[in-house]
Amino acid sequence: MDKEYIAQLTEQWMGICEEYSATDLSAAFELIKRHSPEFVSEFYKLMMAEQNASCFLTDEMVQSRLRSTLNTWLLDSFEVPFKQNFEDIVKKQLVAGEVHSRIGVPSWLIMHGMRQIKKKVMQFLKQDQVENALAVADYIVQILCFASEIMCRTYEAKVEVHNDVKHSYRLFSAMQDVAVQKDKQRGSLLDWENELMYKVFSDNTAIIHSKLSKSEFGLWFIHKAAYAFSSSDQVEVIVDLIHKVDDLNDQIIGEQNRSDALTYIQRIREKNRQILLLIEQLFQVAEYINSGNDSLTQLLNRRYLSTIVSREINLARKSQSSLTLLAIDADFFKKINDRWGHGAGDQALQMLADVIIENTRGSDYAFRIGGEEFLLLLVDTELSQAEVIAERIRRRVEESTVSANGGIHFSFTVSIGIAKYNGHPDYQRFLDAADTALYAAKHQGRNNVYSV
Ligand code: GH3
Ligand code: MG
Ligand code: MG
Repeated sequence: MDKEYIAQLTEQWMGICEEYSATDLSAAFELIKRHSPEFVSEFYKLMMAEQNASCFLTDEMVQSRLRSTLNTWLLDSFEVPFKQNFEDIVKKQLVAGEVHSRIGVPSWLIMHGMRQIKKKVMQFLKQDQVENALAVADYIVQILCFASEIMCRTYEAKVEVHNDVKHSYRLFSAMQDVAVQKDKQRGSLLDWENELMYKVFSDNTAIIHSKLSKSEFGLWFIHKAAYAFSSSDQVEVIVDLIHKVDDLNDQIIGEQNRSDALTYIQRIREKNRQILLLIEQLFQVAEYINSGNDSLTQLLNRRYLSTIVSREINLARKSQSSLTLLAIDADFFKKINDRWGHGAGDQALQMLADVIIENTRGSDYAFRIGGEEFLLLLVDTELSQAEVIAERIRRRVEESTVSANGGIHFSFTVSIGIAKYNGHPDYQRFLDAADTALYAAKHQGRNNVYSV
């Protein structure tokens, strides 16, 4: 976090407190302390009534955790002038905004809850006959508003980044699919053309042939490839060519004279060749396809980790299915490099990636998140199944031999930590749990599997 930015906010918080007398600050803190459980209940009661909000808060465990978090937050926020920990409290608000963005709690919901608290504050001030109530109310409202404002600052910034990444992930996954389809679709364009020629050359009087834009190739290009390559100049040219081919196709259908039809066919063939050439050019922009992949192992890199994990968490919450995460780290890898060289080390990492892939279904996600660190997200997988998979990976690596250049042969081992998703909406906790398990596996002597 930017130091200067934090200093500015800290100063503003201090400025608010300086506007009020010590007695008023203390009266405010006492009021909050006296009624904090009621504020918390009010906050949640109304939030649960909001249909759009209840999906974040359905989980029993989440509710009880959030209640105690909110309670502490209230007390901390009004104890600040006595503890003089202004910077600390500003940082806490910034972190809270970050957590909200990770969980997907929108800003309006926080504002909504704050409004309920303010309403209750006014009620209690009257009820408790607090002295100088106007100033005390003013102070409390200022702090609640300012704290929410700070939360919103990080929230907005994080959500913006998150949406950018989500968008590029969508492109990335579309691209991967597009790349797989490329050769097949080249074939279907040529099939479309051959079929048209066959119809023209055969003696049938009426020619019926679908438009290229409605053929398998045309649909693929317009719906997927055009989207995946949306920023490339070629896309528009190709779409235009497809429509021109459609026009020529229409003319052939209405054409009684076969030799004229042949000249149209010739023009269609030329256009189709141009289309294929342009598609080749599009795919030469290879970094587009690989931007989310690690270049050594071809696994996913860190870029889409948070997008994918948070999406899978939401799916698991909605469908009540199990989700497990394996954190895999090569043991004493520094020594492998020192002894056999970096190139041999790289080959060992490729071997490890292959083992991971072998044990991964199409619906799972394998990441290389750091040098010799990998994550495997197993969807719809119970802890016991994950343990079997982890043990299989561990054993396969232990039993394999890496053969590197120069007739070098060696083997190495991995430690694996397993975490089962526990229902908390913050994906960071899930990642941390896997990391903790990995740490325990290392601590137990390495070359083993540990689950939390
Ligand atoms: P530990 O069992 O505690 O995990 O020990 P370690 O030596 O594996 O762990 P540490 O994190 O201290 O060192 C990781 C080493 O992995 C450092 C670096 O030499 C090596 N490494 C990281 N990335 C690469 C890579 O891309 N290629 C190769 N060959 N080595 C790498
Ligand atoms: Mg290691
Ligand atoms: Mg490591």
